[in-house]
This record gives sequence, structure tokens and C-alpha cells, in this order.
Amino acid sequence: MPGRRLPFSVLAKPAGAACNLDCTYCYFLSKELLADDAGRQMPDDVVRAYLANLFASHPDGPVEVAWQGGEPTLRGLAFFRRAVALAEELRRPRQQVRHVIQTNGTLLDDTWGEFLAEHHFLVGLSVDGPAALHDAHRVDRAGRGTHAQVLRGWQVLRRHGVAANVLCTVNAVNQHHGLAVYRYLRDDLAATHLQFIPVVERAPAPLLPLAEQGWRPGAHGHRTVLYRQHGDRVTSRSVDPVAYGEFLCAVFDEWLAHDVGTVVVGDVEVALGNLRGRHTLCVHSPVCGRSVAVEPGGDVYACDHYVEPGYRRGNVATDAFTDLLAGEDQQRFGAAKLAALPGQCRACPVRWACHGGCPKDRFLRTADGEPGLNYLCAGYHAFFTHTAPALRALSHR
Ligand code: SF4
Ligand code: SF4
Repeated sequence: MPGRRLPFSVLAKPAGAACNLDCTYCYFLSKELLADDAGRQMPDDVVRAYLANLFASHPDGPVEVAWQGGEPTLRGLAFFRRAVALAEELRRPRQQVRHVIQTNGTLLDDTWGEFLAEHHFLVGLSVDGPAALHDAHRVDRAGRGTHAQVLRGWQVLRRHGVAANVLCTVNAVNQHHGLAVYRYLRDDLAATHLQFIPVVERAPAPLLPLAEQGWRPGAHGHRTVLYRQHGDRVTSRSVDPVAYGEFLCAVFDEWLAHDVGTVVVGDVEVALGNLRGRHTLCVHSPVCGRSVAVEPGGDVYACDHYVEPGYRRGNVATDAFTDLLAGEDQQRFGAAKLAALPGQCRACPVRWACHGGCPKDRFLRTADGEPGLNYLCAGYHAFFTHTAPALRALSHR
């Protein structure tokens, strides 16, 4: 998702963690347990403060206004009409606004399609592959698969010519079907921009049974805990690291054989950028800490994956983004991505592409017992090793 582009990006959550679906691997659902979330919707004064702060903190040129959730479309079109009008009012004349929204697509209709097209939104739509794979995890609150509804949303976007990225998670169900998933997205959906996102749900061993039951507070009569980035176990829904590498390699080989120049695969673009010295994704950059999250009450957190106690950096109403990003805590957070890199990563031949991955996934030990190795290391290593020769050739084109 472009919300992760450097040097500075913000993801705002107008409906908090609220979602009309109940995807089994979605630990963001548990964020409703946070005091700042708890069913809250971002009020207009917070939207105004957020946008004013965003524009004031950006130089002239393009500024991305990105909304996600939960499910942001739950706020309805009226909210987004006001937000777009506010952005027009608050931007400086030399700033160009790029609106971005990440959605499950199930609430999109033609009125939405017209609106998104009129304001040149870039839409990130979540699809995990053909129905049998998608419906395994992406279910509604009654546990029913949502593939048919998502397809309707996708067709709305196509009908109205809205620019769209397909966001596809790689999880324990679809992990052995990389080629089939890729072909489905390319051939059946005619998607041209794809991004693959590994599902890694971690938990400490004592909490694993609870984690296995899912993350919606109060769902199915069980107790839920707030998802936090701790623990060295993963749920059975999480992708296997080796399978993740095989999935990405299968995608890459098909892309290289048929689709260079016609299909954009996020993982490939990021690696090509790294080869050229342009780090475009925090996960595979040497340092991070430039992608913050804004909760419905305006609180700013270190990263969308660290919306948890101890990572609050301030509030959009009182703290300029530039100051928050320059603050000591946030600087340390971003620098730790490099400082905590274990020796195995420092000596790794594909470090240039990987940079140890996201700190949230670094809960393994290296062969010699050093902490901080990424859970996905086996997959990253295989993918970047497999693709490096072709990527080098491509980067010289
Ligand atoms: S913690 Fe991970 S997702 Fe967050 S900014 Fe750092 S690399 Fe990106
Ligand atoms: S592939 Fe593994 S060892 Fe190499 S940089 Fe990535 S996480 Fe570290």
C-alpha cells in the first residue's frame, strides 16, 4: 500500500478498528479494546486538525491523504465528501492531494464508484485469491465467505475506471498456491497492481489458544486480548516462512515470463528500488519510523503495527507531525530497525534487498542464538536470492 512510502506517511482511521467483516487473521479487530478506539469515529474537528497538520508538515508538491481501518467506508460517503472538501480548503496552492483508501470492497456501489473516480482516489482492495482461498479467512460476522461481495466491489471500481491495487495476504491457506493466486488476480480480475502481504500473527505461548480463536472482542463468546507485538509463537493461520518464499518465487517467475511492463508487483518494485538506492518501503529499508498512524481521537502512534500502549507519540491537535517524527522516542524507534539487526543479517548476501524485514516480525533467534532474526527470514532469503540475477538485469534496462 502506498501508505508505507517513505519519507513520511500517515494512515488515518476514520472508523477506528470497526469493520463489517470478521476476517479470522485480522488482529486489528482487537484494537477496539483500546480506550482511544472503543467504537469511536473520527469527529470533524479531528479530521480538520489532522489534515491541517498534514499539509503544514509537507512541503509543496504531492501530499498523500490515506484512510484505512478497520473498514473506512463504514463512515459513509458523506464523511469522505467532507474530507475531500476539507483537503481542498486546507492544502496550499502548490500542494497536490492524492487520496488513498484501503477497503474490503464489500460496501462499494456505483455512487461510491463515481465519487472515487471523480476525486482520483487510489483504492487498495483486499482479495486473497479465488473464492475457495479467499473465503477461508475473509468472512463476514456470520462466518460466510465474502468473495462474491468483494467481486461486486471490484467491478464497481472497474466500471468507473478507479485506480486500484489488489492487496493479497499470504497465509496458511493460500501459501502453496502462489501461481494460481497470481493468475487469478491477473487473468480473472485483470488487476495490474498487486501487493502480497504476509500474515504473521504472533503471541506468547500462554496466549496462543486465545489467539487461535480470533481477534474480535466478545466474538463467539470467548475472551479476547489486545493484540501486541510480543511472543514467539504464531497462530495456525500465519504463513509458513518457507512457503512464503515459494509463493513469492512462483509469482516472480510467472511475472518475469509474461508480465514485465504490464503488471506491477509490489515486492518486485521494492527490490528494484533498493537496487537503485531508493528505499520505497519501510519494511525493506535500513531504518523506519516515518509511517505513523492516526486513531479516531487524533492520537498518533509510532506505526500502524504498533498502536498499543507505549507507542503513542502525541495528538494531531497539539503536535506537528514534523515534531512528532523528530521526537526522541520516534527517532529511536526508527533507528532500532538497524541498530538491532543481528549479525546474520549484517553478513547476509541479500541484506541490500531485505534489511531484516519489519521489527514486528523479528522474534526468532539466529543459528548462533542471537535474538532479533525475522520470522520470515527463510522466505525473504529464498525470494531475494532467487530473483537477484533477474532483478539486476532489469534494473539496468
Ligand atoms: S515497524 Fe515495520 S511497518 Fe512499522 S514503520 Fe517499521 S518497518 Fe514499517
Ligand atoms: S534474508 Fe534473513 S538474514 Fe538476510 S537480511 Fe533478511 S532476515 Fe536477515
